[in-house]
Amino acid sequence: MRAEDKPFWEIKSLAEMSFDEWEALCDRCGQCCLHKAENESTGDVFYTIIACRLLDLEQCCCSDYEHRMEQVDECLKITPVGFKRMNLLPESCAYRRLSEGKPLEWWHPLISKDPETVHQADISVLGKVISEENIHPDDFETYITDQ
Ligand code: SF4
Ligand code: SF4
Repeated sequence: MRAEDKPFWEIKSLAEMSFDEWEALCDRCGQCCLHKAENESTGDVFYTIIACRLLDLEQCCCSDYEHRMEQVDECLKITPVGFKRMNLLPESCAYRRLSEGKPLEWWHPLISKDPETVHQADISVLGKVISEENIHPDDFETYITDQ
């Protein structure tokens, strides 16, 4: 395949992508919208099954994406400008995979051309998590999962 025929994510770095290209990389898995704990010594990150209050659990997407950064202090604010915390993202996340030199997986909507495959491949959090509104913050760590 000629270089100019390759898809943008194979020829551009994350920093070179347009806003629309950057947004298209998100597979809408919702994993980054879960509360997590980080071991600051080792950098290990542990996910809980507790979702940010703004995650729409039925649609598996942010219910106020445009204002997410003002609404939620803990939102990772994943933008092309200066996002460096790739270790906080799941290994399946397109931003993390591309930053590690890995290709997109078959289920990624840009590959499959189907937004449902991220759910069919069991990558998304759809149907697996609970809202933070139902859990006391002191109890979040008891909901850590190894999934
Ligand atoms: S983990 Fe990555 S791909 Fe999944 S919703 Fe978050 S930013 Fe998008
Ligand atoms: S505010 Fe951020 S963490 Fe919360 S649902 Fe929206 S994108 Fe996810």
